[in-house]
Formats: sequence, structure tokens, C-alpha cells
Amino acid sequence: MLPHDPSNQSVDVLVVDDDVAARMLMRAALEQGGFNVLEAANGVEAVEMFRQHRPSAVLMDVMMPVMDGFTACAELRKLPEGLFTPILMVTGCDDVESIKRAFIVQATDFVTKPINWLILGHRVRYMLRTREALEQLRRSRAHLAKAQRVARLGHWEWERKTGLLHCSEEMHDILGVRPESLAEMQKIYLEQTHPDDVDLVARSVIDALQQGRSYSIEHRLVMPDGVERAIRHQAEVARDVNGEVSEIMGTLQDVSEHKRIEEQIRRLAYYDALTNLPNRISFKERMQDLLARAARGGQLAAVMFIDLDRFKTINDTLGHTVGDSLLQEIAQRIRTCVRGGDAIARSADGAVARLGGDEFVVALHDISQPEDAARVARRMLAALAEPCHIEGHEIFASASIGVSVYPHDGEDLETLLKNADVAMYQAKYQGGNTFQFYTASMNVSALKRLNMENALRRALEREEFVLHFQPQVDMSGTVVGVEALLRWRHPELGLVSPVEFIPIAEETGLIIPIGAWVLREACRQGRRWHSAGFTALRMSVNISSRQFRQRDLLPMVREILQETAFTATFLELEITEGAIIQNTADTLANLQGLHEMGVRLAIDDFGTGYSSLSYLKRFPIDTLKIDRSFVSDLPDDANNAGITCAIIAIAHHLKLTVVAEGVENEAQLAFLNKHVCDGVQGFLFSKPLPADEIDRFMRSSLLCTRRLTR
Ligand code: C2E
Ligand code: MG
Ligand code: MG
Repeated sequence: MLPHDPSNQSVDVLVVDDDVAARMLMRAALEQGGFNVLEAANGVEAVEMFRQHRPSAVLMDVMMPVMDGFTACAELRKLPEGLFTPILMVTGCDDVESIKRAFIVQATDFVTKPINWLILGHRVRYMLRTREALEQLRRSRAHLAKAQRVARLGHWEWERKTGLLHCSEEMHDILGVRPESLAEMQKIYLEQTHPDDVDLVARSVIDALQQGRSYSIEHRLVMPDGVERAIRHQAEVARDVNGEVSEIMGTLQDVSEHKRIEEQIRRLAYYDALTNLPNRISFKERMQDLLARAARGGQLAAVMFIDLDRFKTINDTLGHTVGDSLLQEIAQRIRTCVRGGDAIARSADGAVARLGGDEFVVALHDISQPEDAARVARRMLAALAEPCHIEGHEIFASASIGVSVYPHDGEDLETLLKNADVAMYQAKYQGGNTFQFYTASMNVSALKRLNMENALRRALEREEFVLHFQPQVDMSGTVVGVEALLRWRHPELGLVSPVEFIPIAEETGLIIPIGAWVLREACRQGRRWHSAGFTALRMSVNISSRQFRQRDLLPMVREILQETAFTATFLELEITEGAIIQNTADTLANLQGLHEMGVRLAIDDFGTGYSSLSYLKRFPIDTLKIDRSFVSDLPDDANNAGITCAIIAIAHHLKLTVVAEGVENEAQLAFLNKHVCDGVQGFLFSKPLPADEIDRFMRSSLLCTRRLTR
């Protein structure tokens, strides 16, 4: 007999048999094993007892009146609590048919009569343990599913042999659909993948299938409702004995919430809550990158330390709320000065941060000279000078700005910040509302630049501009055109080169009125020369990119042509490649408009910029001007000789006229002549000269004819 096992005491076992003797023996055997025994005499009673007492196991005879054991077993399996209960069918020894039927009605096991009473209790205990193991498995599966649901983690498995794809519930929840095959999943998956991530996902899956490469990637899914989800997607590849990919198991985790929290934490750690600007920590990080980049590219960078003047007074008198709003407004203005879309900001892009209190700091990179920082500082002072309207108060803020320049004033961030701070105190010392460089000599050049800017503002009204003209000669030696080149007669500095003042005019926007003046004067002079008998003379006028981006360029050109009675077809506008590359839609409209007017278009300094064939084809261009730098060491420099020939070939292929700039000697001329350049311009023929001298030159242009005999 089975030794009494007290741990079985609370375990109910239901014994179902119509034979009372059999029931008694079973009871005895089971009670010996420590089980608590319930009895039923047929199937119907068994189901009833089961409902009431929920026994842990059932011993069921097959042949019974009212309801037999098979039916009863099937009935029990229909009950939710009976689904997993072990049911042991008691059959005849060689009753194979009953054993088969027992299996069909999902009995757990069978025991044949005559029963070995000694081991019956053990049999039940083994069965209960198996059930327990299964139960645990089921529970842990449920937990896993729950955990996966909480973690928003789905998994999928694909088997090559069967081609079957299994996806977990959560996987469906993430995707919103239930793919049946790998191909379908790939299709659905790629459809939902963010367009920018499709390549990554597709490549990973293909590599897994073809090369057996496991992967771990992060990408975005776009849900049908447009919501974007961040997904971490991992897959492990299993191989068969031949090394072929046999199975792929993947997990998919929706990490959107993590990302959001991460971002929130990052913002808290890296951003100033009041102004939303980066804080000191993130500024330092960005600045390290920026300095490393400047070091690699051999460029300059600048650090600007900005401290508001009298902020404490404002805070004390108007209160902290107003003070906070003021800081927000100032932060906004500083940001605009650094990030504005115009030429200055573009040439000196940078980062703004709040260090705390009323202190801000700006990093500028990609600057070509310290004056670029001075310009930004000046813009900032001007922007801050505009009154701030806060809660009914009109507040005039100003700041003291200190500037240090990498690498002159320090090679590391700490030194640059410290020196910018020192310079800021210099600015304060001067009464505030100003900026100072750390290195005193830079203040001098910045001042010079400022003076020039101010003088330039008055130059138009003071009539200090003059035009010079430089002849363009064709290969027969005839002057076919002139290029108008602007000069500034500065009261103190004398004749200033456009190279010095055109960039300032562009940055300040003064190029717009100055450019209009140039065009008007050039057309007026062109008209005079036409009237004087040079009836085919072409007038070339330089147009800066800023002018070219101007919306009312077309009406302006039309009006000036009308006013000066100069024929459009003799006017050629020279623009640089850079000017037409920017904002192609507006550019195209301008170019087309000019072309329709009959105005010719030339690309100036060709070869120094993008030199893209595609825009040459797309835009209605008439002339290419080979930049002086290629011509200067012709014919000896093989490289430049090659480029020059290539430009001539491109021009001729596109049926454009090609003019070489900066021709200074006979050797260059001979080379260009040999390679059939259409026109030349340079000191060899004439420097840019005032109109009356050009007049004389043209009348004696036989000079040129002699030079050009091939
Ligand atoms: P650019 O349009 O390429 O003009 C040609 C420049 O090359 C002129 O310099 C001219 O004096 C110079 N040059 C001509 N032949 C030779 C030569 O044989 N050797 C050397 N070394 N130089 C030669 P400039 O007059 O100083 O003008 C410089 C640039 O300023 C011009 O380059 C043009 O981009 C700009 N510019 C001049 N006038 C205007 C204007 O009215 N409006 C605009 N937007 N820009 C202008
Ligand atoms: Mg030019
Ligand atoms: Mg040029």
C-alpha cells in the first residue's frame, strides 16, 4: 500500500464507477495515498459532483448506465474548470477500442483493469504533477504575454521548412493587423514603415534571409491614423546543419513611450526651462564638436558672451514675472540674430544658450573673419534696442557683449569662454550697449568695418559711386561689349575696390539701391555709345545674388530699360553660379522673365562654383565667363589649360558664347585663340576705365586687330 502522504490531504479526487465495490477499493487505495475521495455512480452524477467540488483529478470508468465515461469525459472538458483537469479512464485490459475513444474525448491517461491498487495513488500523483507542470507553463505563458503587452513587445517566428509565420498577440496589437505569411508581413510592415526607414528595414530583412545575418535596428512605423511609433526590432537567425537559414525569430518593441520620456529627460537636462534655449551643459557639448570641426577645417569660430545691462534694476522694480518674460523675449531675439535666413547668419551659423540669470552665450562657426562676429554682435545690439512690450510696460533692454575668437583667443572652450567674459566686462566698462573683442586689435578692424558700413550708407546720396568699363573683344579684335564695374570714391580712403565694399553692401541690403543705380548708369552710358555710332555694343552689368533673389527684379529692369531707352538685347546681366543655384523656383522665373524681355544672361566666374551642366541646360543662359583664376597661368598649367578647354567645349556644345576673363598676356591670348574662345577681356587690352577713356580706346581699337592675327 501507498505510504500515507499528508500533503495530498486537501486534494480531492473524484472516483466515478457504477460498481460500488470498485469504488470502495479505489477509495481505499487513494485514501492510503492521502487523497480526499469523492464518489459518483455515473456520468451525470460525475458532472454534477465536478461542478460542485472541483476535484483535482478524476478516475472514470468507461461503461456506466445513464451516461458513460466517454460522454462524461467530453462533458467535463467542456467546462472551463474541466479543461485541464487530469482524467484517468479505467478500461478493460485489452479493450483497445475504449483506449482509442478515451484519447478522442481528451482523457489524460488510462489505466487498465485489473487495477494495481498499489500504484494507483502514485499514478494519480504523477498525473497531478504533470498537470501542475502544464499549469505552470500555461501561467508563465500568460505572464509572458502580459509582460509583453505591458512592455509593448511582440514576437514572431518564421520557419523556412514550412514557410509558416507565427506572430504573438502583441505583435498584432503593434501592427494593427494579423499577417499570415512572411511575404504578407513584409508587405504590411514595409507599408507601415516610415519612408525614411524603409531602406534600413528592407536591407536588414534581406540580409537576414540571404546571409543569415541577425539584426537589431530602431525605426519608425506610421500607423493608419498617422501616429508615428518608435520601434526596436531585433531578429535572430537559426541555421540548419548545412548552415542554411532555417528559422528566424524576431521581437518587436514599441519604444515610443521610452523615447518620449528620454526626450523629456534630455530636455530637462540640456535645456533651460524658462527660455527653452540649450543650457550650459549642452552648449559645452555642442561647442566641443564645433571647435573640433573648426580645427579640422582650419576655420575660425567665435564665442560671444552676452550680459544684459541693468537687468537687476528691471527685475527689482517691475518684478520677476516681467523679468522672466523679458528674458524670454531677449532669448528669442538673440536666436533670430544667429539663425536668421539671410546672408550674415548663413555665413556665420551658430548656437545660442542661456548660462543662467541674464547671461547668454553664442557660438559662431564657419566664420571667415572676426568681423563676421562683429556683424552678428551689431545686429544683436540693434535687435535688443527695439523696445519690449511686456504687461503694459515698454522696456528698453541693452546688452554688453564680449567676443573671443578661436584660435586667436584660445583653443579650448574654457579659455574662449573666460576670455569672452573678460571682453564682456570691457564692454560693460565702456558703459554697456556695445561689444568688445578679447584681442584689442580686432576691435580696430571691426571699427573700420563699421565705419565703412556707415559711409556706404551715405555714398549713394553723396554721389560717391562711379562706373568704370572694361572692353570685351572678340577674336577678330573688335570691341563687342563692355563690362560695367563699380568704383567707390571714398572721401578719405580714395578709390575703393568693389571686392571690399560689395560684400558689405550685400550683407546690409544696400546692394539693392546701389545695384539699381549701377544698372541705370550703365544703360544710360550704353545708350550714349549706341547714339555715338557703336550701335552693336553690348553692356554687361554684374548682378549680385541678393539682387537676384529680389522679387521685383523684373519690373526694375524693365523700367530702367524704358527710362534710358536702351535696347534690351544689348544688355547682358552677369550673375554667379551661386546666385542661380539658390532657390531655383524664383530664379527660374526671374531668368525666364529676363530672357523673354530679350536681356542676355551670363554666368560670371564660371568654374569656381557648382559648374553643373544641368542648370546650364535648364536655364536660358547666353554666355559663360571663364574665371580669371583658370586663365592666369595659361598655357603652362596643364590642369587649368584642361579646364579652360573643357569649359569652351561645354559652352559650344550648349551653343553658348564663351568669354575668358583676366587675359593679361599674349601667351594666354594665343592659347584661347587656338581653342576658339569667342571673346576675351583683360588688362592685355584695357583695364576698367572711365567712360571717356573707353570711348577713346574704342575709336582706336585697330590696336586689338593687330594683336589678334592668328
Ligand atoms: P567680375 O565681375 O568677375 O569682374 C572682373 C574683375 O576682374 C574686375 O575686378 C576686373 O577689374 C578684374 N579684371 C579684369 N581683367 C583683369 C586682368 O586682366 N587681370 C586682373 N588681375 N584682373 C582683371 P573689379 O572691378 O575689382 O571687380 C571685382 C568684382 O566686384 C567683380 O568681379 C564683380 O563680381 C564685383 N562687382 C563689380 N562691380 C559690380 C557691380 O556693379 N555690382 C555687383 N553686384 N558686383 C560688382
Ligand atoms: Mg562680372
Ligand atoms: Mg568674373
